[in-house]
Amino acid sequence: MVKTMPKVDVVTVGVGWTGGIVAAECTKAGLKVVGLERGKSRGTVNFANVHDEYRYAIRYELMQDLSKETVTFRNNRRQKALPMRQLGSFLLGEGLGGAGTHWNGQVFRFLPYDFEIKTMTDKKYGKNFLGPGYQFQDWGLNYDQMEPYFDKFEKTSGVSGEENPLGPKRSDKYPNKPMKKTPLLQKFEKASQKLGYHPYMMPSANLSAPYKNIYGETINACQYCGFCERFGCEYGAKATPEVAVIPAALKTGKYEIRFDSNVVEVLTKGGKATGVRYIDTVTGEEYIQPADVVVLTSYMMNNAKLLMVSKIGTMYDPATGRGTLGRNYCYQIMPGATGFFDEQFNIFMGAGSLGECLDDFNGDNFDHSKLGFIHGANIALTQLGLRPIGNNPTHIDTPIWGAAFKKDSITNYTRSLSVGGQGASIPYKENFLTLDTRYKDVYGVPLLQINYDFTDQDKKLHKFISAKCGDILKEMGAKKVEVRADLTNYNIVPYQSTHNTGGTVMSKAPEDGVVNNYLQHWDCENLFAVGAGAFANNSGYNPTDTVGALSFRCAEGIIKYSKKGGSLV
Ligand SMILES: Cc1cc2nc3c(=O)[nH]c(=O)nc-3n(C[C@H](O)[C@H](O)[C@H](O)COP(=O)(O)OP(=O)(O)OC[C@H]3O[C@@H](n4cnc5c(N)ncnc54)[C@H](O)[C@@H]3O)c2cc1C
Ligand code: SF4
Repeated sequence: MVKTMPKVDVVTVGVGWTGGIVAAECTKAGLKVVGLERGKSRGTVNFANVHDEYRYAIRYELMQDLSKETVTFRNNRRQKALPMRQLGSFLLGEGLGGAGTHWNGQVFRFLPYDFEIKTMTDKKYGKNFLGPGYQFQDWGLNYDQMEPYFDKFEKTSGVSGEENPLGPKRSDKYPNKPMKKTPLLQKFEKASQKLGYHPYMMPSANLSAPYKNIYGETINACQYCGFCERFGCEYGAKATPEVAVIPAALKTGKYEIRFDSNVVEVLTKGGKATGVRYIDTVTGEEYIQPADVVVLTSYMMNNAKLLMVSKIGTMYDPATGRGTLGRNYCYQIMPGATGFFDEQFNIFMGAGSLGECLDDFNGDNFDHSKLGFIHGANIALTQLGLRPIGNNPTHIDTPIWGAAFKKDSITNYTRSLSVGGQGASIPYKENFLTLDTRYKDVYGVPLLQINYDFTDQDKKLHKFISAKCGDILKEMGAKKVEVRADLTNYNIVPYQSTHNTGGTVMSKAPEDGVVNNYLQHWDCENLFAVGAGAFANNSGYNPTDTVGALSFRCAEGIIKYSKKGGSLV
């Protein structure tokens, strides 16, 4: 029998950065919030023995259990989609803090160009510069409108950084000084300045000094332990939801988190959401949580899936171009180059956001008229701490096993460096999310299906940026530089980036997207969907500064809606 719980003001589905920020802001405004999280509770106290590469970075202990729920994937509509049975290309979060527990903490604002990409591209390069099939659109909110929310997220996570010489205008400095500029980063800086570029220290949520955030929560100083990406921080020195925002929400006494609670459906009546149905993953019991406002904060993939299975909104159809739910799925392109040196470097030391980077080939900071692609990539040298199991730098022509592999890998482990970019992804009509018609999760709900392949735009961008990365390594003194091979088809197996975007896109008008610029569903006024799903296109950066900023915007919308009701635009 399904048990119905007492009604609350707000229910969120998932407790990562988006769920945590919505909870902190809404409880502060006096609303009663319940967070339903399918995973378990965890925090700094659990990470004392976290420096175990095999357990956490290779076996993904902190991440989603794909034996219960996964996605299916195909490159195009002619193929049969199959389930992703092991985490690979991207790593899905689970448990308190979501992927925000084991993220690197690289915190970039998207560019003004990202938010008005259609208007700016058409104006500068003419209409249809990329040819048919590319579906880019303005977001319905510009950089100036986003700026206060970026500022708030950076002051929530205590970002350590310095001014980007080519960056958009800021209302305030970063709250903390940049991380330490190691000899390696100085080498990158010198070489790129010599080439005429504008390097700066990567903005980091691994903090350069202890910091009290806007909620009064303390984040400690980074110890440069080198076990950041894919691990929790045992020093409480990485801004994560469970360190920076969730305690603030709990202290109000108006927040309850229910763990082992997997939401399977958003319930609606008369065009409004009435609550959610969820399953206790330990006992198998079913519950209904009624709420005045339902907020999907379950990562872009789960947000899209929940809307699809609950039949809220119009599904995108790639054959006709009609519909919005599932449209504009974007990923990222990872161009780069490796330089082989005689000298040795301390590459095993580092931090998740220890890096030096530049934006000379990002956004519209350079002329694309003869290049055949738009946008670009932030180019960086990061010093994350190269762990020994996952990192075996060898030359392109060295075999991938055997004695030659071992020799090359051991020699080059401390003698090679990579410079890489995070290439922006532009939406294409055949890249979309839908529901799988054959495979279901352990609760009997259809799996989300990803249809994705790299486009000509991606291939050109990849080649161009890889060459630029190679030039920097040459200037840094590498005796040999190997540029990454040209892009072919997207492969879901090797890790690339957990920067998936789109599917529940934000828009100025209902016919162009799923949510308005308060992340409020166009067809269901008391339902909000927040996260990178709202991005109309992906950028040449990591997404979470923009995700965090949008979460503050969404919380503002929920509070307004709770007082007045109705559409917010
Ligand atoms: C290894 C790694 C490194 C990264 N590094 C960076 C970086 O340096 N910079 C950056 O900007 N970004 C980085 N990211 C991305 C960043 O982690 C995400 O952008 C961010 O965590 C997304 O927050 P979210 O709240 O949208 O989703 P999540 O963090 O995924 O949280 C969603 C939560 O919802 C829960 N949930 C899902 N479905 C349900 C359901 N049906 N019922 C109940 N609960 C549910 C999940 O268990 C999860 O806890 C990284 C990601 C990974 C994996
Ligand atoms: S590198 Fe710094 S922030 Fe990251 S886990 Fe280690 S101490 Fe924490």
